[in-house]
Amino acid sequence: MLSIFNKAKDAGYPTHGGANVPHRKNTAECKTVVMPPPEKVVIPMLMHLGAPCTPLVKAGQTVKVGQKIADSDKFVSAPIHSPISGKVKAIGEMLMPQGMKAATITIESDGEMTLSEEIKPPAVNGKDDFIKAVRESGLVGLGGAGFPTFIKLNPPVGTVIDTLIINGAECEPYITSDYRELIENGEDVVTGVFAIKKLLGAERAVIAIEDNKPLAIENIKKIVNGFEQNDGSVSVMTLASRYPQGGEKVLIQKVTGRVVPKGKLPADVGCVVMNAQSIAFLARYMSTGMPLITKRLTIDGSAVNNPQNVMACIGTPINDVLEFAGGIKDDAKKIIMGGPMMGIALSGGDIPVLKQNDAVLAFSEGDAEMREPSACIRCGRCVDACPFSLMPTRVDHLLKQKDPVELEKAGAMTCMECGCCSFVCPAGRKLVQSMRLAKRIIRNAPKKEAK
Ligand code: SF4
Ligand code: SF4
Repeated sequence: MLSIFNKAKDAGYPTHGGANVPHRKNTAECKTVVMPPPEKVVIPMLMHLGAPCTPLVKAGQTVKVGQKIADSDKFVSAPIHSPISGKVKAIGEMLMPQGMKAATITIESDGEMTLSEEIKPPAVNGKDDFIKAVRESGLVGLGGAGFPTFIKLNPPVGTVIDTLIINGAECEPYITSDYRELIENGEDVVTGVFAIKKLLGAERAVIAIEDNKPLAIENIKKIVNGFEQNDGSVSVMTLASRYPQGGEKVLIQKVTGRVVPKGKLPADVGCVVMNAQSIAFLARYMSTGMPLITKRLTIDGSAVNNPQNVMACIGTPINDVLEFAGGIKDDAKKIIMGGPMMGIALSGGDIPVLKQNDAVLAFSEGDAEMREPSACIRCGRCVDACPFSLMPTRVDHLLKQKDPVELEKAGAMTCMECGCCSFVCPAGRKLVQSMRLAKRIIRNAPKKEAK
């Protein structure tokens, strides 16, 4: 069993804020169990940031494993592939956990899992081919963000990337999905790091892992040191465990000391950050051509009968995954997609596994209770906890006026929704919800005509 007290020396630069959330990595030593393909998958056309995909298949059509079934002609998007073979039952629509509607493709399995002829290692003769291959793989940020990876790996001409950072922090409580990748597929992680570092022309790559994962640190260090291309430019950085260190901008500051300015991207400070699972997937894709059709999920929480890490087909109903993990207890009150800090509470188990999901947590009545908020006592703890030094209490106050200009001035769009402010608030104020609402008001405000 890993111990959170087995602390190594913290490396890196100081960052602001954060919270000492409990780790609860109960499934750390649970080897990934592959769930048999489901009888049916429901695949939403929006499993990434950007434009939704359009189905390329029709009801009644036969599909094979790995076949591209949806794509978009918009730049910010990522194609979608079938995780099973069978027949398209319907093109429909569903309400996504984030509140928006998305078209769906429902596929009924034929039980054969016949591979598509499209699956073959991509022919890569240079950077353009590589970027095209990454797009065709359907890869999006697997740590929760869902940003299409091919865009991240292709910064604007003239941008110099000197540092590739691999995010192995996994600072959210309960989730051990990245940890299992670092333990079970360390060779893929390291192979991917050397390949992507070369592609970006980066001088160095840093694999950043929190000190509550000593076995992962040891494993990756060993593989890096023994890697045939090892030239000393790839290192493993041990970070003191601190939430929300896995946030992209927080991690960049921790590893390089650089601050990503408001409204700017990691590439603007010479960095690309990739999640450990994303980079390992890319290494496998380049040698097999199998696109993104499965996802590892940590299934945990007080209401789960048999917590574990499960590799499931994308599109599998969450209810089926929970059932695979022994089902949930009678007093289950709340199901969360993602971690307890940044995840989204689900209204039902019909929601399918999405590309960017890394956990499903179910909690019993006592653990799911939210305390009633009381008046702000102006203690300032929320400001101290915010990694971006925002004033969540001010946004909370400004919400009454619903003024998008004032809310934007208060920095609501900078918020990464880490939940640290809510976590530390002694008055139980729902500050992160206020931040989300403020962002919605800003996004929905009519755009002013340029003069
Ligand atoms: S305001 Fe946003 S970024 Fe700051 S602590 Fe709260 S949720 Fe996190
Ligand atoms: S932490 Fe809570 S009580 Fe303290 S200032 Fe912020 S909102 Fe008010």
